[in-house]
Amino acid sequence: MKENLKIGIMGGTFNPVHHGHLVAADEALYQFKLDKVIFIPSGDPPHKNFSEETIAEHRYLMTVIATSANKKFFVSRIEIDRKGKSYTIDTIRELKKMYGENTGLYFITGADAILEILTWKKTEEIMQLCSFIAATRPGYNISRIQELKEMLFKKTNNNIEKIFVMEVPALAISSTDIRKRVKEGRPIDYLVPEGVSNYILKHGLYR
Ligand code: NAP
Repeated sequence: MKENLKIGIMGGTFNPVHHGHLVAADEALYQFKLDKVIFIPSGDPPHKNFSEETIAEHRYLMTVIATSANKKFFVSRIEIDRKGKSYTIDTIRELKKMYGENTGLYFITGADAILEILTWKKTEEIMQLCSFIAATRPGYNISRIQELKEMLFKKTNNNIEKIFVMEVPALAISSTDIRKRVKEGRPIDYLVPEGVSNYILKHGLYR
């Protein structure tokens, strides 16, 4: 089916959003000829317990600040406004309904998250509705993604390329490291956009 529109769905916790995420989204725009990228901060992830300081509203606002200068980047509240546990299948179904059958959806997220896809709710349906872009950090062993593709092929018998790997050197930056740095009083200025750094300081996050 010919895709009229190609949309990147940047799924993640974004706790906080950093330059690695922005570079990954920009690289996906370029490599996959996407029309736009929608950042979707996760709401209440089924696999995590969040503490107060990482509440969705802070993560959402920091993502809005970080993406505001790029006319092809957008941020959606779709997951943070959803009641109860948030599953990717619900988001993808909603976006498909919103943008129509002929829109190609490309779910961009970290390769480690994609490796767990067989444990996600309705894996087979998600695989039918969208493609995946696995963003990797330098030195990542992509043979694990290859094994996943083989397992998916056995399970679904569908040989259409649905998982793509995209190496992003800027993903040497990580949210975990940024939170640790803030806790230790070390600088984060060139790891996140200035507005995000100011937001973290103003709201006393990650102390
Ligand atoms: P995560 O464990 O927070 O992140 C896994 C790794 O991927 C981390 O190294 C992370 O780096 C990186 N990463 C996360 N999002 C990224 C992005 N958009 N681009 C590049 N790297 C990224 O994973 P998560 O955030 O919880 O889950 C990722 C996505 O998968 C979310 O949209 C989540 O809702 C979805 N998911 C769905 C289900 C389900 O439906 N059952 C289950 C699990 C995950 P940083 O820490 O630096 O971001």
